[in-house]
Amino acid sequence: MSLPEIKTSPLAGPVNSLWGVGGERAAQLARLGILTIEDLLLHAPRRYEDRRHFRKISELTKDEPFTARGTIVAQGLKRFRGGNKSVFEFILDDGSARLHCRWWNLPFIEKYFEVGDEVFVFGKLVETKPRTMDHPETEVIEGGEESFIHINRIAPVYPLTEGLPQRWLRGLIWRTLERFESQIAEPQVGRVTPCAPMVAAGKDRRAEDCAPYQSLPTRANAVRMIHFPEELTDVEIARRRLALDEFVELQIQIQSRRKKFEALSKALPCGGDNRLMKPFLAKLGFKLTEAQTKVLREIRADMGGAHPMRRLLQGDVGSGKTVVAACSALMASESGFNVALMAPTEILAEQHFRNFQKWFEPLGVKVELQTGSRKTSNAEHRTSNVERHLHAQPSTLFVGTHALFTAGFDLPKLGLVIIDEQHKFGVAQRETLVRKGNYPHLLVMTATPIPRTLGLTLYGDLDVSVIDEMPAGRGRVKTFIRTAEKLPKVWEFIREKISAGRQAYVVYPRVEEQDTANDIKAVTKEFENVQRALAPFKVGLLHGRVKSAEKESVMSAFRSNQIQALVATALIEVGVDVPNATVMLIENAERFGLAQLHQLRGRIGRGAHESFCILISDAKKPEARERLKILEETNDGFKIAEADLKLRGPGELLGREQSGMPKFRFGNLTEDLDLIRQARELVRQQS
Ligand code: ADP
Ligand code: MG
Repeated sequence: MSLPEIKTSPLAGPVNSLWGVGGERAAQLARLGILTIEDLLLHAPRRYEDRRHFRKISELTKDEPFTARGTIVAQGLKRFRGGNKSVFEFILDDGSARLHCRWWNLPFIEKYFEVGDEVFVFGKLVETKPRTMDHPETEVIEGGEESFIHINRIAPVYPLTEGLPQRWLRGLIWRTLERFESQIAEPQVGRVTPCAPMVAAGKDRRAEDCAPYQSLPTRANAVRMIHFPEELTDVEIARRRLALDEFVELQIQIQSRRKKFEALSKALPCGGDNRLMKPFLAKLGFKLTEAQTKVLREIRADMGGAHPMRRLLQGDVGSGKTVVAACSALMASESGFNVALMAPTEILAEQHFRNFQKWFEPLGVKVELQTGSRKTSNAEHRTSNVERHLHAQPSTLFVGTHALFTAGFDLPKLGLVIIDEQHKFGVAQRETLVRKGNYPHLLVMTATPIPRTLGLTLYGDLDVSVIDEMPAGRGRVKTFIRTAEKLPKVWEFIREKISAGRQAYVVYPRVEEQDTANDIKAVTKEFENVQRALAPFKVGLLHGRVKSAEKESVMSAFRSNQIQALVATALIEVGVDVPNATVMLIENAERFGLAQLHQLRGRIGRGAHESFCILISDAKKPEARERLKILEETNDGFKIAEADLKLRGPGELLGREQSGMPKFRFGNLTEDLDLIRQARELVRQQS
């Protein structure tokens, strides 16, 4: 990430152009991702050491790491087990007490120290009699003209790589700052620098828009402060300034991509005229919620507008996104265009296919299925379809998995692409998708509530609609956490519910993204246990390796209640809709993320009957139980996603498949919502 104007600045020069950086050092720096002078200046310390105040050795504790300073009064290397094992130890004295510092099986450490050396050590005690630290971080204090860089100040401690001394890197960064600080330019937002012109421009630019820059140090100051702060509180101020720059840069990319797209593309007129929508809604059997109607208005405005729609539809599991997708598809059909609906799994594609067929065929809209293993139309059929589509009615909805868009399947007259459960697809995939065809409108739907920070970065180039209301008459899902010990009781409870006519899911964790052979073995064994526990009721099994045809027959048996319970891996996470299923048992729940558990739980609570989700976990760690408790306490997907983001970070929340996650040196996606907002506003106002 480097700003355009910096490319021509001296900061873009390679690190080996710096005095004292030879080939070996340059290679070590490269391992840390430091190639240019700018990279070096932005290499953030991993911690700071206040070398103005030390803790006396006599005051060190086992609880918390501290820095002490003393003189080595003795040292030695001991070998044992025939010389295979060793311990090197020195004893440090600071006048208050003595401290033993040990390194196990690192005999070469010996050559770095000598009796009489003055040393900083950072660590916590492993023993108090005698006071001992194992493998502390150390730095020998050297005199000389540069010593002021390292002592009597708050000293930065950097991430290192093998062979690279802390002290050397700190010296290099200090000298580089001295030489280049004046060349660190303020970033350009659009064509002008952020603050001064905005203030000068007066009334149409609000003062708070440039407030972030006014209340923060200059970029050059911030870079110095992040390395050599005068007070520890300076560090966060500097970090915020540098994070803001990163967010601004990202917003410039996002917003210019969007602008380029709007300049290049002309929207297909897909606003529709209601002639299919009306009869569809009349026969649907329920009234749309206000939230659904509001979202549809936004979609209609987009699809009848000047630029192709690029919209993200967020709605918690069960909020009714499918019907919104259907209505959007009908708008395009009414306008004479075809529609593609892409689902992340075959099961979900099949389910959509069945639903849409039921809804659309009476209206004269054809529905076709295209997955890896099934096509409803063969090649010849397709040719004739193409002809038919080119010549007029009726329009077609193509439903499929990503297979829909591979293998050269070119969809004719495509007006709208709908991607269901977007978080399962990468950003890159999304882009290739909509490049097919003549800039069709794009609607991506997700049930993973995306915290605002991510929404504004990862999905920054999409407009966002939210269905923030559940259809009426839904029974709340009650969630309980139980230990495995309680399983017999839980089975009894499930049998009761099945006897009363309901159905159940039993879910086992999927460790990898794909079901592995081991997972399959585990789930197959559990399947037998569940069959025994629930006999004579019928139980089905579903996992990633089950053949498509069988998958379909198991799902259809479950749907029609010929099977009362379904044992599955997390494969059923997305989209499956069987309203009579009201109980879900999730084993080893601690192995799932919260957002994923919430998704899973969204499979129940879809009908009028009360639903129960039982999380089985023997996790000993209190954190793990605390985490699961959040699910007991709330059904609000947004709260859960925020918690998940805080606890596990954005990568985990959105799934490993998610590519295109921006990398920040200073920006923090869990904490910096205010900065992200400010950056977006700044860039918007300036361009
Ligand atoms: P999701 O948003 O998770 O994809 P679905 O679209 O699968 O949710 O909808 C969940 C269930 O709610 C479906 O059975 C659907 O028919 C039903 N549903 C959708 N909208 C409404 C509504 N306005 N009133 C009543 N039921 C609805
Ligand atoms: Mg859905």
